[in-house]
Amino acid sequence: MIAFALFRESSPALFSLMSAVFGAIIGSFLGVVAERIPPMLLDDETRINLLFPASHCPACQHDLAWWENIPLVSWLALRGRCYHCASAIPLRLWLLELFSFLFFGATAWCIPDIPALFSLWLLSAFLLPLAIIDGRHMLLPDCLTQPLLWAGLLVHLVHPTLPLRDAITGAMVGYLSLWLLYWAFRLITGREGLGYGDFKLLAALGAWCGWQALPTVILLASLTGLMGYFIFIKSGNKTAQIPFGPALAFAGLITFILQIFSLIA
Ligand SMILES: [Zn+2]
Repeated sequence: MIAFALFRESSPALFSLMSAVFGAIIGSFLGVVAERIPPMLLDDETRINLLFPASHCPACQHDLAWWENIPLVSWLALRGRCYHCASAIPLRLWLLELFSFLFFGATAWCIPDIPALFSLWLLSAFLLPLAIIDGRHMLLPDCLTQPLLWAGLLVHLVHPTLPLRDAITGAMVGYLSLWLLYWAFRLITGREGLGYGDFKLLAALGAWCGWQALPTVILLASLTGLMGYFIFIKSGNKTAQIPFGPALAFAGLITFILQIFSLIA
């Protein structure tokens, strides 16, 4: 940690640039996580995991050469199409790499506290695939929400930005508050407004941000969700089901960033 802090202090621009490149590589891996976890969970026939098989075109199955797999660059060079069969490579994968590139670079530039910076990167590495998977499949997998909760507690054990007591209480209150809301909504309307994944994600965010931050997270997530809902309706989409996970992930990330800034201010 001290070596990173010294490096950042001596050449902040180079540190930010290298962080951005690291972010693009992480973003590329997060794309694999977001694409592969749903079939791993939903399709009993599938034989993939996060490492096997190697990166390949899902349309023509050919293994990607190293130059077809460079974060940010390859998608542009190939103009978003497979080199062999010309089928489209999803734009969302490139956007995820671009976002990670900018996010890691910008946060490295703005946050001098290295443990807090690395914690934020870890949090974002869980929240980005969770938001994408929930947005596409209405699913918040336990294999991401559960480790995220433990990681939050561990972060506050190693480098406390808030007392561990507040983090543990945050996890419990986060889960229970949405659980109660779910049952109240269900008893009154007879419908399900939230999923169990939402409770687990808010529990994890409670562990990361502390119980005191939960009202902020819920308010911010509700406003974001509402905005998403209106954009959906305006675009002519009449489906009533809107995933809450992306809004929760966004709200949790913003809240944690604000906490870091209030800490270093
Ligand atoms: Zn192909």
